[in-house]
Amino acid sequence: AVLSKTKEVDIEGGWELGHPIPYAALAKVFGLIEGTTKRLEKTSLLTSFLLLVIQRSASGDTDSLLQSVYLCINRLCPDYVGIELGIGESLLLKAIAESTGRSMTVIKQDLKKEGDLGLVARNSKNAQKTLFKPKPLTVPFMFKNLKEIASSTGHSSQNKKVSIITKLLAACQGEEAKYIIRSLEGKLRIGNAERTVLVALAHAAILAEQEKATKRLNQEKLTGRLEHAAEVVKSVYSELPSYDLVIPALLEVGIDGLKERCKLTPGVPLKPMLAKPTKAIGEVLDRFEGKKFTCEYKYDGERAQVHKLDDGTVAVFSRNSEDMSKKYPDLMDQLPRCMKSTAKSFVLDAEAVAVDRKTGQLKPFQELSKRKRKDVKVEDIEIWVCLFGFDLLYLNGESLLHHPFAERRELLGTHFQEVEGEFTFAKSKDCETTEEIQAFLEESVKDGCEGLMVKMLETEASHYEPSRRSVNWLKLKKDYLAGVGDSLDLVVVGGYYGKGKRTNVYGAFLLACYDADGEQYQTICKIGTGFSDEALQQHHELLKPLELTKPRGDIKVGGAKPDVWFEPKVVWEVLTADLSLSPVYTAAQGLADERGISLRFPRFIRVRDDKGADDATGPEQIAEMYERQVLAQSKGGKKKKGG
Ligand code: ATP
Repeated sequence: AVLSKTKEVDIEGGWELGHPIPYAALAKVFGLIEGTTKRLEKTSLLTSFLLLVIQRSASGDTDSLLQSVYLCINRLCPDYVGIELGIGESLLLKAIAESTGRSMTVIKQDLKKEGDLGLVARNSKNAQKTLFKPKPLTVPFMFKNLKEIASSTGHSSQNKKVSIITKLLAACQGEEAKYIIRSLEGKLRIGNAERTVLVALAHAAILAEQEKATKRLNQEKLTGRLEHAAEVVKSVYSELPSYDLVIPALLEVGIDGLKERCKLTPGVPLKPMLAKPTKAIGEVLDRFEGKKFTCEYKYDGERAQVHKLDDGTVAVFSRNSEDMSKKYPDLMDQLPRCMKSTAKSFVLDAEAVAVDRKTGQLKPFQELSKRKRKDVKVEDIEIWVCLFGFDLLYLNGESLLHHPFAERRELLGTHFQEVEGEFTFAKSKDCETTEEIQAFLEESVKDGCEGLMVKMLETEASHYEPSRRSVNWLKLKKDYLAGVGDSLDLVVVGGYYGKGKRTNVYGAFLLACYDADGEQYQTICKIGTGFSDEALQQHHELLKPLELTKPRGDIKVGGAKPDVWFEPKVVWEVLTADLSLSPVYTAAQGLADERGISLRFPRFIRVRDDKGADDATGPEQIAEMYERQVLAQSKGGKKKKGG
């Protein structure tokens, strides 16, 4: 099916062997992908395109495939390098006006109507008469210019950005303007999840290999091989999340050699393993009964992945793969003291927690978040951190991901040492009974932690699963036991003007969850109580620059009517009393019910600046929470009846 698609779809756009890929070909594929909601069709379209890229590239050219893949996921380099797109609306409006000669008033009216800057750019281009056809844009040219825009900083950078964007817009034709602008905004909105790209990449590699092979596989064998390839690429990428490394390797050694070639490598942060929430201790035992597991304190700080490279370089990465060395110079100073000389290279998983150096007491995350994020000088630091190590993922040239946790924990203990107030092993206890877990949970809360993390210790189930919210890690927070339920991380997408003395700030906010598969923000609730005047002022300062004329095209609005819309960027952690079905909001529509799900009495906990909008809670999780609640209520109801 995939092979025949290649021939059906004409995406070539005058593209010759060994020549740079025309950007028009990519824009065409984007259009086709955007035009379907079917995941398989999206994958197949992208596969066709990537296959063409592989086949049309000159031998030894790995950049064409690399740049195509980056443009498909709208990134320019691995996450940890930190060059990101996300140009603000006003700058883009200015560039559209400058390059098309349309007046700002007309452009703004158009934006009100369309709600999508990409469409506005395309309309503006189409309204413009051109005398001669511009030279076609190519993928390498676009990539180079986007990178230049994203990396330019400093005083004159605004003008420089506008001038490059104007130049790109002047050269584009057809649908190109739409995607260029959306790329610059930081969201392509074609419903192309990264998972789809990984699968398409794997399939394209296999199909390219097949077309060259003297003996072709039959359909059944081919299907098996495609499925296997997709698994290989996904697993390799989760260990080594860098297309810069994976794509050239894929082109060189093919799918079969990829696992051997691309392994977890210090210096390339992996997406951390995450835990599933549990509401009751009984649930932990239901899940782990008969298996060996351990309970660890769940520290209330910031995830920190520490890497030591063979050359001695040490780096700390956040849960978002951001390099945190500049934020934590104190930690960088402390780290060498906790490593034994036997730990020559490693990847350590840990939590950085604010501590009172005099009393040794742990402080909550709120304290830690008061620290500056950039250019911190050790002499100015008032809030100190202690690192709590809980896992070892790599040691001296070997990936430990596929070793049982018990073994990883032992190696951690052997190659690291505690230093008071600077580095400690996460406190743990290999509990067996409900009473033991209960007692340890209470102890953890008394010591200033959020609760416990319960982890499988042995067998394959205890392997480290990068980027997965795994059932082999359960989190047990004190809040859950009070019946409060897990918190949600939601994106602020709208604001309501305040009343009375709060007219200069927003008095309430519209929140949304994020559906990664559909690349869509879904509205979930309005939140407006419990903010101090000072907090409202701070939120206003942060959100004001993100104001938009209309809801961005990837916000599934439903019946919500805020006074202003925001660029989806800021993430808040929110608690709720419970969830209810809603005719107004769109979160998780069609999952637990045709209606959306909303939060009742949402309460703001904190700003999650360690999370991007894409890391917000997803609709499946919300549907799952709702279903659990329904189940719990029906159980509770039965009990009452019986008693
Ligand atoms: P939360 O809001 O609960 O931190 P999250 O989405 O950031 O949610 P979870 O999977 O819910 O992540 O919880 C795991 C987080 O808890 C880790 O990302 C880590 O920062 C923190 N943590 C604290 N102590 C531990 C521990 N002993 N083991 C693993 N993670 C821990």
